[in-house]
This record gives sequence, structure tokens and C-alpha cells, in this order.
Amino acid sequence: MIRRLAASPLGTIAEKVRAGERLSFEDGVALFRSSDLLGVGALANAVRERRHGNVAYYNVNRYLNPTNLCWVDCGLCAWARKPGVEGGYSMSIEEAVSEAAAGWHDGITELHVVGGLHPSLPYGWYLDLCRTLKTRFPGVHLKAWTMVELDWFARVGKKDVVEVIRDLAAAGMDSCPGGGAEIFEKKVRDVICRDKITGERWLEVARLCHLEGVKTNVTMLYGHVEGVEDRVDHLLRIRALQDETNGFLGFIPLAFHPEETQFPHLPPVDGMTDLRVIAVARLMLDNVDHVKAYWIQIGEKLAPVALHFGADDLVGTVTEETITHAAGAKTSAGLSRAEMERMIRGAGREPFERDAYYERVVRDGEGRVLRANRHDFAPHAGSAAAAPPPAHPSAIDTALASS
Ligand code: SF4
Repeated sequence: MIRRLAASPLGTIAEKVRAGERLSFEDGVALFRSSDLLGVGALANAVRERRHGNVAYYNVNRYLNPTNLCWVDCGLCAWARKPGVEGGYSMSIEEAVSEAAAGWHDGITELHVVGGLHPSLPYGWYLDLCRTLKTRFPGVHLKAWTMVELDWFARVGKKDVVEVIRDLAAAGMDSCPGGGAEIFEKKVRDVICRDKITGERWLEVARLCHLEGVKTNVTMLYGHVEGVEDRVDHLLRIRALQDETNGFLGFIPLAFHPEETQFPHLPPVDGMTDLRVIAVARLMLDNVDHVKAYWIQIGEKLAPVALHFGADDLVGTVTEETITHAAGAKTSAGLSRAEMERMIRGAGREPFERDAYYERVVRDGEGRVLRANRHDFAPHAGSAAAAPPPAHPSAIDTALASS
């Protein structure tokens, strides 16, 4: 396929891809502008198969959003609420733990925790939540707090962000999700999320996480007011930081959903753009191992196709997504392991249930986790996979007291 493209307008880029050479800013723009989407996808697929063969990864995770109260007013956001406004909520630690426990039947190996920038929760609350979740669900990977939240906690606690990272890591934070990156370019941020931290600050907090040994993910929100140059610039800034720290686990392109945001007039992102963004990201991010197709956002029909356009990971079972659904996503709020594997097999790929470090999760015949996140689980006693939900406050009080 790469040879076929040699005689096409993508020929120069195809030759670089064949030789394993790094692509330039101009190459990235040309890939976004190319009329040959299938050619771009074929190049990305070649790189994807060179790295990962026929395997497609997923994990069994649960989302936990302890609060949607947020003092920031991002135009892109349909989910957050101001205090006192209908639909706003803030869980107590006990409620957050109960919520986390609600999906435990499917042997969850990762908790994904993000929330709004709550105007009044004290610094210690975030540490208590991490400690309590780790106490209640030992061995489960705690992927918690975006770079935007870490910056906010530093302001709340009047601390340096490095101290915040250290405190949270000591309390149980294992890695960080990649949200809040949006598009790094200021002129775009000024329109979609003016009061959020700058792109430069986002990258700086990520750099500090990586230097502290905390791996993170990174996202890009596309399909609003950005141009293709802004997307390429975003990808190159990620690549530059990855060269420096090697701290990004994976890249997740996020399609903008306009419903209920401050941009309801914008058209929803089409499937061709979804596939192109994934493919170009795979080609430009030559130092990031994993490019994910987030099925919650691009849908269960397109996500398997993306596994042939550069993506190697369908993210997770995602019990139970609320943020994209607040902006009009029509996908399920979560899938079972069997459904994820069916989706991957339907694409002709081989499912690989991964843990947070991309090692294979080992389960027994009844689906209970035996090994994940470098931990052995005791399947019949005290296993996080088999643990019942904390039914009443006294169990949580005990966990809090011992944390
Ligand atoms: S995107 Fe994040 S920071 Fe912005 S309003 Fe929503 S929750 Fe708050």
C-alpha cells in the first residue's frame, strides 16, 4: 500500500513513513488537507500494525465524577454547573465510594476520576478521596485528576503543583487522565475555554507529573473553531514533550459534541473527520505508543473502523460516562467486556484486555481478576473484582479512619 501511494500526492510522506522518518508540520497539514482519506488511513494503519500487529486493546474501567460544580465557564462544556443551579451535584466521599462500587461486578481494573473545579472543597478532600478509594479497592489503578484539576488543587491548597502531585501520589493517585488539553493554541482557547489554564500551563503540569514519575494521558478536542494548523501544532507540542519525558501513555482524540454547549450552531463532527484525526495523530505522534478511538464519542459503528485507521485501543468499558452524554452523545453509557470484544473481533482484530500499563489482565473462568496492574488478586477473598459494594456508612467510616 505504501508503495502504491509513492506515485500519489502523498508520495513524499509515504516514503518518510516507510523509512520511519519523523513528519513535519507541513506534512501534518498536508495529511489533514489530502483528498485521499483512504490513503492517509492506509499509512496510519501501516504504522499501527508495525507497532501493535493485529492486537486491539481495551480495559475494564469505571468513571467516577465526584462533582460537576465548577467555577469556570468553558463554552465547550455541557456538563458543569454553578452551585445552586439545577443539575449540579457534589458527592460526599462516602457517596463517591458507593458510586465507584456500583460497577464492581464486571471486575473493574481501573477507576477514572475527574470532576469540575469545585469552588469550595478543601485541598484535603481530594487526598481523602484518593486514600479512601485505594483503601476500599486495593490493586485497582487510580487514574485521577486532569492537569487542569491539579493546577486548581495547587491554588486551593496554596501549594506548588509538584507538592500537590506528590501528595496525591502518596494518597493513591497512580496516573492521570488526559482531559482539559482541548487545543493548546491561545486564540482557540480564548473562544472555547477562556478561563481554563493556558495550553502552556497544561503542558507544564504534565511535564511535572512525568518528572515525578506519574504517567499521564493527553487529549485533543477537535471539530469546533480550530483550524487544521491548530491541530498539527497541538500534536507537535505533545510530541515535543514526549521526546523530553516519555510520560504520555496514550493519546485520545475527542470529537466535539455541540449540543447544550455555548456553540449549539456548530455542526456535529462527521465520521470522515473522526477517522482522519485518528490517522494523522498516529502518523505525527511517532513517540506515543497508543492512539485511542473513544467509542463513547465516535460511536460503536465507527470505532471498530478506526482500528484500521491508526487506532490500537478502544479505551474501556466506561461504566458510566456522563460528560459527553451531557453534550448529546447517543452512545451507550458503558459496555460489557463481551460487547467490547465483539466490537474488536467484528473489525478483524484480536482483543487484548489490558491493565493500565498495557499488560494483559488475567481472569479466572468466571471473569474474576487474578492479575492486573502488577498486583495478584485473591479471587475468592478480598478481591477488588469480587468485592461487594460498601453498603452502609460504617464500613466507609472504618476505611476513612484507617486511611
Ligand atoms: S470543561 Fe472542565 S473546567 Fe471547563 S467548565 Fe467544564 S468542568 Fe469546568
